[in-house]
Amino acid sequence: MALRLWLSLLVWVNFLGIGKDDEIVIDFWGSLATFKLLAKVLTITLFPPNIKGIDTKKIGGLFLAQLYFKYGAMNSGKSIDILKVAHNYEEQAKPVLLMTSHVDTRTGRGKIASRIGIERDAVVIDEETDIVQIVKDLPHKIYCLILDEAQFLSKKHVHQLAQVVDELRIPVMAYGLKNDFQNNLFEGSRELLLFADKIEEIKTICWFCPKKATMNLRMADGRPVYTGEQIQIGGNESYWPVCRKHYLNPPLDERGKVLAPSLDRSHVGSDEADEL
Ligand SMILES: [Zn+2]
Repeated sequence: MALRLWLSLLVWVNFLGIGKDDEIVIDFWGSLATFKLLAKVLTITLFPPNIKGIDTKKIGGLFLAQLYFKYGAMNSGKSIDILKVAHNYEEQAKPVLLMTSHVDTRTGRGKIASRIGIERDAVVIDEETDIVQIVKDLPHKIYCLILDEAQFLSKKHVHQLAQVVDELRIPVMAYGLKNDFQNNLFEGSRELLLFADKIEEIKTICWFCPKKATMNLRMADGRPVYTGEQIQIGGNESYWPVCRKHYLNPPLDERGKVLAPSLDRSHVGSDEADEL
C-alpha cells in the first residue's frame, strides 16, 4: 500500500507540473473534464475495488459499473432480493429499471412477484427487445438495471447487458436459475457465467434435507421428471429445490410418488446441515 501511495504521488507531481512552467498548471485546472478523469484514476489507485472494508459503492459512484449474475435454485428468494434492492435504491431517490422475461408465466406478463405477496411491474424482454435502446430512451437516468428470470435471456441479450455496463456505465444485476431440471445450463445463465464481473449464489436448503439446494427437481403428478422440454408452458409441473443426492434419488413411496416433505425427515437420514 505504501508503494502504491508513493507511485501515485510521483504520477501526480509529474502531471501537475510542479517545478515546471506555471502555465501547465493553469491549463490543467482550466479543464474540468481532465480533472474529473484524473480524480477517478486517483481514487481507483488509492481505493481499488474489492478491498475488504471499503464499500466501493459509497465512493461517489466513481467506479466502473459491473455486471452481476446472482443465481439460485427455485424458491431461493431471488424475487424478494430484487424487490429489496430496488427499494433500497429508490429510498435514496435513485431510480432503477426492472425487467423480466416474457417466458415467465407464473405471474402474468411484466411482473416481478415474490412468494410473500409483494410484486412490481417490470419491462418485458422478448426476442425483439433491444435492452440498450430501452435504457437509452428512458426519460431519466437510472442507477441500476435489475432483471428477473435471467436464465431465459438469449446470448444477444446478455451481450446487450454487457453494453449497458461498459458503454452506459450502469450497473446490471441479473437474477436467475443456473441449471434446468435436467441439470443443464440455461442459455442466459451460461452467457452470464461467462460475461459477468461478479457471480453470487443465493442459497436455500433442500426440500428433503438440511443440505444446500443446488438443483431443481421437476415434479409432475407427484413423480419426478427428468426428460422433456426445458421450458414447459402451461403445464401442471412444479419445481422443488433439492441437493444433488435428492435430485438423483428423491424419497419415493411404494407407488413411485415423491414423499411429501414434512417436519419428520427421518426418512432422509441425519445429514449435518451444510453451511449456507
Ligand atoms: Zn437433500
